[in-house]
Amino acid sequence: MTFTDLGIIEPILKALKIEGYTHPTPIQEQSIPILLDKKDLLGCAQTGTGKTAAFSIPILQQLYLTNPNQKEFRKTKALIVTPTRELAIQIAESITTYGKYTGLKNVVVFGGVKQLSQTNALKGGTDILVATPGRLLDLISQGHITLKNINYFVLDEADQMLDMGFIHDIKKIIAKLPVKRQSLFFSATMPPAIVELSKNILGNPTKVTV
Ligand code: AMP
Repeated sequence: MTFTDLGIIEPILKALKIEGYTHPTPIQEQSIPILLDKKDLLGCAQTGTGKTAAFSIPILQQLYLTNPNQKEFRKTKALIVTPTRELAIQIAESITTYGKYTGLKNVVVFGGVKQLSQTNALKGGTDILVATPGRLLDLISQGHITLKNINYFVLDEADQMLDMGFIHDIKKIIAKLPVKRQSLFFSATMPPAIVELSKNILGNPTKVTV
């Protein structure tokens, strides 16, 4: 199995080739067809499995195919929420790498630092936003971000999110998302509280475990 077999488009294939990704990892092989088929996904996977590329590549591809030559103001169409600033930065860097030839833009926002560089980065608009929950809600309440155009939503490391006490923030974020969207939910473990939360986010998901 190759990324070409999975139907990945040339601008993304080129970036993956440069990164030395010759073959998709198991989570990528299983998730990419489901996501390109526009289905919701419940992924039981840890960091280190290639999870980031598994969700980033189909999002980049769908955004690119919808609007390959963006000239208008970029609306935030994809949102990835992750528990820590380290993960947020890593995900944004991966998206920049995989999306290098797509012309799509991403911005990352996280707490614990001044807002100014983040609000400046948001001024020109962005296609993809990577965020930690608290800072995302702050920037929404101040009018720097709107979630009304989100077509793709990823909740990453859901179990860690709950352990860190982000459940109320997550529920507030979900309430602001359009109903019509593709949703992806990743967790390393699936205790009852996580299964319950996933039901609030996903509609009839396909389950992938690695
Ligand atoms: P992640 O689980 O998303 O944190 O990814 C773990 C590591 O695997 C990262 O360093 C990625 O760059 C790398 N990686 C992801 N997908 C592939 C692939 N298909 N081939 C080789 N390396 C990969």
